[in-house]
Amino acid sequence: MDGNFLAGWRNAGRARARARAAHALWLCLILSLLIRPTWSADAPAPVPCAAAASQQLPLPQLQLALEQCFREHGNHLRIGDTEFDRGTALQWLHVEPDARRRKAIFAAFAPLWRALNADGSVGSPYRRMIALRSQFERTEGSQLQAAAAAIGVPPAQIEQWLVRILEAWRNTLTGPAVEPWDFRYIGGKANRALAAATVQDTLLPVTRRFFRDLGADVDALQVQFDLDPAPNKSPLAYTDFRTRGGQTPTGWQRPTAVVVGLYPEGGLFAMNELVHETGHAVHVSAIHTDPSHMDFPDTLFVEAFADVPSWSTYEPVWQQRYLGRAVPEREAQRALFSDVMLDVAWALFEIRLLRDPTLDPNVVWTEITAQYLNVKPHPELPWWAMRVQLVADPGYMLNYGLGAVLTAELRAAIRANIGAFDGGNLRWYGWVSDRLLQYGTLRSTQMLLQDLLGRTVDPEALLAQVARCGIRTGRPN
Ligand SMILES: [Zn+2]
Repeated sequence: MDGNFLAGWRNAGRARARARAAHALWLCLILSLLIRPTWSADAPAPVPCAAAASQQLPLPQLQLALEQCFREHGNHLRIGDTEFDRGTALQWLHVEPDARRRKAIFAAFAPLWRALNADGSVGSPYRRMIALRSQFERTEGSQLQAAAAAIGVPPAQIEQWLVRILEAWRNTLTGPAVEPWDFRYIGGKANRALAAATVQDTLLPVTRRFFRDLGADVDALQVQFDLDPAPNKSPLAYTDFRTRGGQTPTGWQRPTAVVVGLYPEGGLFAMNELVHETGHAVHVSAIHTDPSHMDFPDTLFVEAFADVPSWSTYEPVWQQRYLGRAVPEREAQRALFSDVMLDVAWALFEIRLLRDPTLDPNVVWTEITAQYLNVKPHPELPWWAMRVQLVADPGYMLNYGLGAVLTAELRAAIRANIGAFDGGNLRWYGWVSDRLLQYGTLRSTQMLLQDLLGRTVDPEALLAQVARCGIRTGRPN
């Protein structure tokens, strides 16, 4: 690789947003709620990545070893002398204009892929883990069953929904299949067009202004933003309770939240994430219940709700009002959904592998991405192995795929009740507090949604929104 290549690389890298690949609050919920029994405040001792090669490793240790592979390899991707982490690599894939460089960024994942997939045989670490996990689910239940129960539909229907959503996305794509290293770039036109309007120091002021316009003044709610660099700071953004709140002799004391994040380079992606985290923060402050229910309700609902305001950042109305410029609706929605659809694809991938762990993950991933994302088949590449959730919590990706269904439902229902809110709506916070947020853990997702919608959740609102992406050719431009 020539010197100019890497010099350009480093310069370009500094100018780019470095943000999570998708909904990084995944980690925060685990840390803050401790809702999953496999995670506890007493973190288990790390198991080295190399231990994953041992055929005898039991499931919990095998998962820990594979998770460690994401630290050992994923945090140290390399091209020549340049080292970068996985999140940075995924962000670069959205914005790097040179296809040759995008391919090199993609190829830098190879050590991580080898650690997880080895030679791809049934004895490879990931395939052994999925087989053990599938066995475990047969007695202990699956995340698919849990999610299905949470919204009151049969598990088989959820898989059908995921397929319908992916088919709807496929219908917005024309033209030749694209290389996997070009997929994110093609979807990221809006991110690039709005880069100058979303530089780092605009993120918080814009977020404050948007929430004030939604009737949720984050200063009045005493939300604490911890966005400055610090040693050993978590690379993933998260939001947690700062104070629990409750009845006092002088009246109701609201709970308060803290948002922790790092957005050194800005970007629409980072803007969306900060609005999402702030969505969690105002959720916390709206909880008005007894101490035993003073907590976030279940993950699926919490994540879907935080995306209600954050999806607004992909609306031209929002962009015009808060950034002073906007991209056309199709481009804006495409930027949102090209990331969402990858999550939906991963959700389907996990459902299929956990149901039949004899399947080859490379083949399953190639089929899904070729059929629905219009990506060129590369069955020789285990490029599914980019998300730590796949090994840390197999089956979890469903919360994102299905979360999008709930977010679209919530946005449509809120709009139907109080009118548009992408450009602000002072009724928003009072209304969502009253109808959705005040209960803490007192009401289940199914109860909240049934009351809100007067029916069971379905994917129609999301399908209608996907159609707003229009139809565009798959060529990078
Ligand atoms: Zn979140």
